[in-house]
Amino acid sequence: MSGGMKYRLVAFILAMAGMIVLIAWTGHTSWQRSGELREKLTTVQLQSFQIAKHLQQTIWELNNLVLRYGAYHDTNAWARFQTRSKELDNWIDDERPILSTEKERQLLDLINTRYDDYLAAAHGIETRIQSSPPEATPLIAFADFEKQTQRILNVGSELAKAHLDSMSTFLADSQQSLTYLRVVLLTSLALLLLAGGGLAVVVYRELIAPLRLKLVESQALLERQEKLASLGLLAAGVAHEIRNPLTAIKAWLFLQQKHLQPGSPEHADTEVIANEVNRLERIVKEVLLLARPSEPHLATVPADEPLRQVQALLMPQLGKANIQLTVQDSVSFPVKIDSQQIQQVLINLIQNAADSSGHDGEVSLRARLDNKRLTDRVAEVIILEVADTGKGIPPEVEKRLFDPFFTTKDAGTGLGLSIAARIVEKHGGALQYQTRPNHGTTFGIVLPRA
Ligand code: ADP
Repeated sequence: MSGGMKYRLVAFILAMAGMIVLIAWTGHTSWQRSGELREKLTTVQLQSFQIAKHLQQTIWELNNLVLRYGAYHDTNAWARFQTRSKELDNWIDDERPILSTEKERQLLDLINTRYDDYLAAAHGIETRIQSSPPEATPLIAFADFEKQTQRILNVGSELAKAHLDSMSTFLADSQQSLTYLRVVLLTSLALLLLAGGGLAVVVYRELIAPLRLKLVESQALLERQEKLASLGLLAAGVAHEIRNPLTAIKAWLFLQQKHLQPGSPEHADTEVIANEVNRLERIVKEVLLLARPSEPHLATVPADEPLRQVQALLMPQLGKANIQLTVQDSVSFPVKIDSQQIQQVLINLIQNAADSSGHDGEVSLRARLDNKRLTDRVAEVIILEVADTGKGIPPEVEKRLFDPFFTTKDAGTGLGLSIAARIVEKHGGALQYQTRPNHGTTFGIVLPRA
C-alpha cells in the first residue's frame, strides 16, 4: 500500500471514529439532560400544593394574633397582625403572574375581595375593643370574623385545586413533549448511525477502493524505463547475436527433418528441437520488441474495432479450453492507434486473463469512455478493458508485475506486460489494472480520445 493511500485510510478511519464518538456523546448528553428536566418538572408539580398551605398558615397565624388582642388587649399582637396582614396582601398580588389560567386569576380576585372582608371583620373587632371598657371581649364579637376566615380559606383551597389542575395539564404536555423528544432523539441517532455507516461504505467504495486502481505512471514508469534502458542495451545486443545462429539452426533442422521418416523416434526428436527453437525465437523477438519498440503508425479507428478483431482471432484457440471471450456493450468513439500494436497488447492481456481464469473461465472485452489525468490535466479518455474472472493478482506478484522477465508461469517469458506497457506509453496512454483476490482482474488500456 502506498504512503498516500495509507494516509488517506488512516484519516478516513479517524474521521469515522470521531463522528461515532461525537454522535455517542451528543446522544448521551441529550438523554441525560432530558431525564433531568423530567425530574425537575415533577418537583414543580409538588410546589403547586404550597399556595393553599401558605394562605392557610398565614390566616391561622393572623387569627391567633386577633384572638390574643381580643382576649388580652395585647397591642403588640395587633401591631404584628397589621404587619403580617400587609405581607399577605403583597403575597396575594405576587401570586398573580405565576397563574396561567383565567379560572385561577378569577379565584385570586375572589381571594382579594374576601381578604378585604376578612380584614374589615378584624378591624371591626379592634373598633369594638377601642370603644368598650377594658374587660374581655365577648366571643360573639368573633362570629363574623370566624365566618370571613372560613370563606377566604375555602377560596384558597379552590385556587390550589385550580392551580394544580393547570399545572398537571402543563406537566402532562411537557412530559409528553419530552418523551416525544427522546423518541425523536433516539430515532435520529439511529438514522445518523445508519447514514454514517452507509457513508463509510460509499466513501470506501467510491474514494478508497478505486485508489487500488493503479495507473502505470510516473514513478513506476520512470523506474521501469531506467531498468529497461540498462537491460535493453545488453539484451538487444545478445538477442541480435542469437537471432542469426537460430535462423541457421532452424534451416538445418528443416533439412534434416526431410531425410527422416515421419513417426520415427529421430523425427520426434527433431520436433522437440523445433519447438524449443521456436520458443527461443519468440523470446528473442519479444526482447527486441521491448528494447527497441517501433514507433506506432497511428490511424483513426472506432474504439471497439480492435476488440472485435482480437475476439475473432483468439476465439478458436480459447474455445478449446472452453473459455468464453465476449465483447460487452462498447463505445465506438474514434481512437488514434497503431492497430497492429494495440492488438498485440490486447492479445497479451487476453492470454494472461485466460491463463488466470483457467478452464471454463470468462474473459470480457469492453471499450468505454472516462475522464482521467494522462498528462498534466484531466481529459476524456477511451479505455479498452480486458476483464477476467480469475484468481486475481497476489500482492507479492503485484510488486514485480511489470518487471521484465518476471513470470509465475512455467512457459512464460515475463515480457508480456512490460511490452504492453511500453506500447501503450508510446501511444501517449497508460496501462491500468484493478484486481481482487479470487474475483478477477481488469486491465485497461487508457488512450487519449482522438
Ligand atoms: P507472462 O505472461 O509471460 O508470465 P507477463 O508480463 O504477461 O508475463 O505477466 C507477468 C505475471 O503477471 C504473470 O506470470 C502472472 O503471474 C501475472 N499476471 C498477469 N496478468 C494477470 C491476470 N490477468 N491475472 C492474474 N495474474 C496475472
